[in-house]
Amino acid sequence: MGFKFCSITSGSSGNCIYIGTPKVNILVDAGISGTKVQAGLEKIGVNPASLHGILITHEHIDHIKGVGILSRRFDLPLLATAKTWEAMEAMGKVLGKIAPHNKVVIEKDKDFILKDLVIHPYPIPHDAADPVGYTFVHSNKKISIATDLGHVNDQIKDNIRESNLILLESNHDIDMLINGSYPYYLKRRILSNFGHLCNEAAGKILAEVFHDKLEAVILGHLSKENNYPQLALNSVKKQLLSAGIEQDGRFELTVAKREDVSEFFSL
Ligand SMILES: [Zn+2]
Ligand SMILES: [Zn+2]
Repeated sequence: MGFKFCSITSGSSGNCIYIGTPKVNILVDAGISGTKVQAGLEKIGVNPASLHGILITHEHIDHIKGVGILSRRFDLPLLATAKTWEAMEAMGKVLGKIAPHNKVVIEKDKDFILKDLVIHPYPIPHDAADPVGYTFVHSNKKISIATDLGHVNDQIKDNIRESNLILLESNHDIDMLINGSYPYYLKRRILSNFGHLCNEAAGKILAEVFHDKLEAVILGHLSKENNYPQLALNSVKKQLLSAGIEQDGRFELTVAKREDVSEFFSL
C-alpha cells in the first residue's frame, strides 16, 4: 500500500496530481496557483516542503500556472522535455525565473528513476510543443496518466497497458460540444486530432487496455461546458459494456473533481 495517488484538481481551469511512494513525493503539473496547490496538499497531509519535484506534461497554462512559484518557494526541480522548456521559457512571466539547478531536462520514451519510483514519459498527440503523458512503476504496481489526448494511438495504448490505476481524459461529450456555445474555432480545436479526448473515445481505449488487475480508473480533464460527471461515467460504462466488460465491482470508476481534491488512492 505504499503507492499513492491523488488528483488535486483536474480540468481546463487547472490540473495537478500528487503521486507518492515511501521515498518520493512528486506532482505532475501545477496548473493552479501555488496557494491552491498548497491548500490541496494540506488536505491530503502532504507537506509541500517534502516534494522532490514537479513533472510537467506540456506548457499549456492549465498545467503550468503554479510551477514557477512552487519551484522558487520550495526549491523544487521542474522536469520537462527540452522543447517544453523552450516553450515555457518563451511564456516569460508565467514561468518566471527558475534556478538553474531546478531546471531538469527529461527525454521522451526514456525511463528515469527517482529513488523507489520508475518514471516513463511517453509522447501524446496534443497541440503543444512536445507534450507527454507519464507512467509510474513502484513495487510491481503501475499508475498511468493520460490526459490532453487529441486521439488515441497504439503508442498510448501500449504505454498505459497493465496499469493498476489510470487517470484518463474524458473531456467532452461530442453532441454537447457541437451544440454548445463554444466559438467555431475552439470546437474545431477540441475535436481535432491534437485537441482533447471525448467520453466515447475514453471508454473505447479503456475497454482495450482493461485487464484483471486494474483497480481504479479516474476520468479527468472534464470540460465544464461540454460534459458533466454522470454523463462521462455513463458513456464510459456503455463502451465497456459493449466490449463485454461489466464495471460494477471489478474496479473503481470515478471522476476527478475540477476544483477540489479527489479521492486518495493507495495501491
Ligand atoms: Zn493542453
Ligand atoms: Zn490540459
